[in-house]
Amino acid sequence: IVNYSNISKSYGDLQVLRNIDLDIAPGEKVALIGPSGSGKTTLARLLMTLEEPTSGTIEVDGEMLWHQKTNGKLVKANEKHLHKVRGNIGMVFQHFNLFPHMTILRNVMEAPRNVLGLSKEEAMERAVTMLKQVGLANKIDAYPAQLSGGQKQRVAIARALVMRPKVMIFDEPTSALDPELVGEVLEVIKAIAAEGEMAMLLITHEMDFARDVADRILFFDQGRIIEQGSPKRIFNNPESERLQTFLSRFN
Ligand code: ATP
Repeated sequence: IVNYSNISKSYGDLQVLRNIDLDIAPGEKVALIGPSGSGKTTLARLLMTLEEPTSGTIEVDGEMLWHQKTNGKLVKANEKHLHKVRGNIGMVFQHFNLFPHMTILRNVMEAPRNVLGLSKEEAMERAVTMLKQVGLANKIDAYPAQLSGGQKQRVAIARALVMRPKVMIFDEPTSALDPELVGEVLEVIKAIAAEGEMAMLLITHEMDFARDVADRILFFDQGRIIEQGSPKRIFNNPESERLQTFLSRFN
């Protein structure tokens, strides 16, 4: 459902991604692990067209986002295309960015109303279903300031899921949380992953979580995929010295 082909990205002289090729199948859960600054977030941001590649091609659900022509010229999809592609992708970041002046229910209803054009009743029904799924049915009338960090992040997850994306990106969804709140958010993501049909790109420093949820683990270092494989292979038999060193920090 997602295809990166020969993607590179530089900020000035700093090359952040180097010739990345990555295919994510429908429903596949892929975890990106690797040191800070290795380019994981940049790879995810390219999918949301929050960044543009320096070269290469990206396709989502058969639609070109970025396309590199044979003459080397990089072409961005037109607005109509972009709108369609973005609608298929949900993203949850480290910081939740909820609308502070809206109730939890309104926060989750906003995009189905304004982007999908659903009626108030339809949007509300979908939003309530999602909030139940993340365990927050009893908080629908609360405001973000009244929630814990873990609860806010679960609202952010509901807000992304309510759009029924084909691909969900989680970029370090628990790294801004107090340690005691991490578990509840990871459990919600695991439950969503277990439902199966959505592809996921998970950027995480939680190795146990990556092992439990992912079908495939990619180890990133200095803008390259150094090693990839099943969780079992990556964690039990890391081949490269860099991955061995990286993993030893978590033991
Ligand atoms: P982390 O785990 O810390 O989030 P990461 O693997 O996600 O790290 P990126 O956030 O993709 O890494 O960053 C890769 C590199 O690109 C870093 O060196 C970062 O400082 C640099 N970088 C990111 N965004 C910009 C920008 N807008 N301008 C210049 N440099 C940037």
